[in-house]
Amino acid sequence: MSKWVYTFGDGAAEGRAGDRNLLGGKGANLAEMCSLGLPVPPGFTITTEMCNWYYANGRRYPQEFETQLDAALDHIGKATGRRFGDPAKLLLVSVRSGARASMPGMMDTVLNLGLNDETVEALASDSGDARFAYDSYRRFIQMYSNVVLGLDHEVFEEILEDAKARLGHELDTDLSAVEWQEVIDLYKARIQEELEKPFPQDPREQLWGAIGAVFSSWMNQRAITYRRLHDIPESWGTAVNVQAMVFGNMGDTSATGVAFTRNPSTGENSLYGEFLVNAQGEDVVAGIRTPQNITEAARIAAGSDRPSLEKLMPEAFRSFVEISQRLENHYRDMQDLEFTIERGKLWMLQTRSGKRTARAALKIAVDMANEGLITREEAVCRIDPASLDQLLHPTIDPKAARDVIGVGLPASPGAATGEIVFSSDEAEEMKSVGRKVILVRVETSPEDIHGMHAAQGILTTRGGMTSHAAVVARGMGKPCVSGVGSLRVDHRNGTLTALGQTFRKGDIITIDGGSGQVLKGAVPMLQPELSGDFAAIMEWADAARRMKVRTNAETPADARMAHSFGAEGIGLCRTEHMFFDGDRIVSMREMILADTEKDRRAALAKLLPMQRSDFLELFEIMAGLPVTIRLLDPPLHEFLPKTEEELVEVAAGMGVSSDKLRQRTEALHEFNPMLGHRGCRLAVSYPEIAEMQARAIFEAAVEAGRRAGKLVVPEIMVPLVGLKKELDYVKARIDAVAKSVMDETGVAIEYLTGTMIELPRAAIRANFIAETAEFFSFGTNDLTQTTFGISRDDAASFLEIYRQKGIIDQDPFVSLDIEGVGELVRLGAEKGRATRPGIKLGICGEHGGDPASIRFCEEVGLDYVSCSPFRVPIARLAAAQSAIRKAG
Ligand code: ADP
Ligand code: MG
Ligand code: MG
Repeated sequence: MSKWVYTFGDGAAEGRAGDRNLLGGKGANLAEMCSLGLPVPPGFTITTEMCNWYYANGRRYPQEFETQLDAALDHIGKATGRRFGDPAKLLLVSVRSGARASMPGMMDTVLNLGLNDETVEALASDSGDARFAYDSYRRFIQMYSNVVLGLDHEVFEEILEDAKARLGHELDTDLSAVEWQEVIDLYKARIQEELEKPFPQDPREQLWGAIGAVFSSWMNQRAITYRRLHDIPESWGTAVNVQAMVFGNMGDTSATGVAFTRNPSTGENSLYGEFLVNAQGEDVVAGIRTPQNITEAARIAAGSDRPSLEKLMPEAFRSFVEISQRLENHYRDMQDLEFTIERGKLWMLQTRSGKRTARAALKIAVDMANEGLITREEAVCRIDPASLDQLLHPTIDPKAARDVIGVGLPASPGAATGEIVFSSDEAEEMKSVGRKVILVRVETSPEDIHGMHAAQGILTTRGGMTSHAAVVARGMGKPCVSGVGSLRVDHRNGTLTALGQTFRKGDIITIDGGSGQVLKGAVPMLQPELSGDFAAIMEWADAARRMKVRTNAETPADARMAHSFGAEGIGLCRTEHMFFDGDRIVSMREMILADTEKDRRAALAKLLPMQRSDFLELFEIMAGLPVTIRLLDPPLHEFLPKTEEELVEVAAGMGVSSDKLRQRTEALHEFNPMLGHRGCRLAVSYPEIAEMQARAIFEAAVEAGRRAGKLVVPEIMVPLVGLKKELDYVKARIDAVAKSVMDETGVAIEYLTGTMIELPRAAIRANFIAETAEFFSFGTNDLTQTTFGISRDDAASFLEIYRQKGIIDQDPFVSLDIEGVGELVRLGAEKGRATRPGIKLGICGEHGGDPASIRFCEEVGLDYVSCSPFRVPIARLAAAQSAIRKAG
């Protein structure tokens, strides 16, 4: 018989932290906290396997489940001295979802389950606090009706707002027991009206309903979207936790809160959190009331005049501090904690590894390594390489004038400028036409995820540092300012009012997620500083890394930037990019229009000095690091005018007839240029082009070597080789040029000639090609196109459909298709080494900056990856993690 239910409570548990696949993250950690002897309300976890069984069997439960459920309810009853459904010994529970990976806000919790018209009176007399009892009951009705019965929560908000207005109350906490009873009657009447049946009174029916709702929520649209965005498989399922209630809404000695063991925004090693007195559950994160700080230090720093937990409930505070330190040491990571204080007694309701900004992740990892809590290699593995992107985001220039129109909480760092939009749909629409927007909301909810993705930054007028907007923005690495109470958003009229000024959709504002400021207009930005913790992690990563990291760069600016990010050479210099500027395009066009080889050479002679100086500059910037230069690759028509107007203008400028230019353009037209006259095919047809480029490279190498006083060894790369003889032909020309430059200068030149492996045939015949090639660089962009037979430029129209229909998991142009394209890379690498042991192997496609693809490169044993300048730090870290994981 399968075991579907695992109990915890009273210092013991059937599960452990390691059981998260079966118990979900929340259930596994509740069990672990119990085993550690921490104060956790007793309860049980229904496994993720139950979820899978439920879906595999038409949404029902196996027979033995009910027996196990009863036994588990008895377990809670024993631990608490109560009985579920018995008004004389009232036991109320919460029903909480909890998947393997935390899915914040995706599935809702039902609190106070077991209340009905009869038990609410028992709760009132037991607690001696009727206000509390009816507050709990109305919360239960709201939550249950929303999560289980599917009623819109606005239905209840409306009733409550009306009642408050009528009774002259501002806060929910102002309502008396009798007033809550009135509200409850209105709630129940409304439910009867909407659903044509009464609110369920039987606690068992309530429990079954809630369990079913948690399982069903696994397949709701929000959860599906979240899983898609975070690559979480549907097969994981969610667990359900049922747990005895403790109450933070039992008056002024009770409270509920959330905290992080270190600051999740800055990483600073001090407890950071928020709480509300006389509140329950998610009140803190819902942004309904503005929460108070937990520590005195944080209260003072925030300039708040509302007392901290430290002052208000010193005893509960002390045990909370002790427990949070214990949990951090136990899990050896920063923890995100949820707790409730019931009449002065602290109860722990959740712990998990806390989400944090990239900056905080760095600081925490470096600090923990320095504290000896984790090793340096662990610290390196703790950083999500992709998150480094956030640190490369701009911040506002401190010297810039700031026209501040409001100040809120610095919820997620980085600064962003954009046009105001008030809805997520608008944000998405504007983004799709290339506009940059700031999403402005009173508060956000999971329905806003798509808008948050589309926006440059997020601004809310309500909510704290742990509000939905703040948590999600930090996860996305988007700047966010939350809780700017002085701003007024009027969704109906589409206006934002600040200090008497009114802003509308499309007006430009800037938000500063570092200070919490909201500024009028655009503001000058600064590039980030890559020192401190960033530098420490990079240094530790470099110590663990085997593969080299180079960059794809052709302009001096890119090369310099990449060098400052730690690039160890250039893996791909695309020479065609050097032919578009100013005079160069003119000479290039002359070359293309030339009728004879002699005329072509004359035009090329004008390009030679320009190319030479380009290469010289790159060699000097890279100061002895390897530089791989690719010969001209794209089809020649790319250099010719596209429209008739341009054509006439260019012809006039060049002093040739537009007919001639038109003829040549038409002659060069190709039906499928990606597979046309390009790559080494150009060098075979017009060897003088390759010769000019080779000469420019060698002459620059000689000059750079002379200036630096040491040899520069260029790597010349021939693109799109499929046949060994293509490479033989081009290499013979390169060698001949090398010889003449050596003769002319009297300087011995060292160089390597190699090829891109970017056609399946080249991978398959790599052992033959390696007889000539001294290095391979896997050009995985073209290799992906040619292996799939998909043109990257045309793929957008259908790849997204493929993804949605589950035919592919990921865009193969973003993350290497390891099974297919990867197999060709592996084959090419093996065959190349078989012929030429020690042949230098690298990758220079877009994939060179993608962590998953980098891991594959480590497995295949490539010597280096090459990526765009901004991805160099990401690649350094990902390469280190790959090496550490391979070794471990
Ligand atoms: P989420 O996954 O969205 O964080 P939780 O299951 O953690 O949802 O529940 C949200 C909040 O509800 C908790 O942080 C806690 O404040 C409250 N809660 C859950 N279970 C209980 C309980 N047994 N007693 C008191 N409060 C509870
Ligand atoms: Mg929640
Ligand atoms: Mg929680």
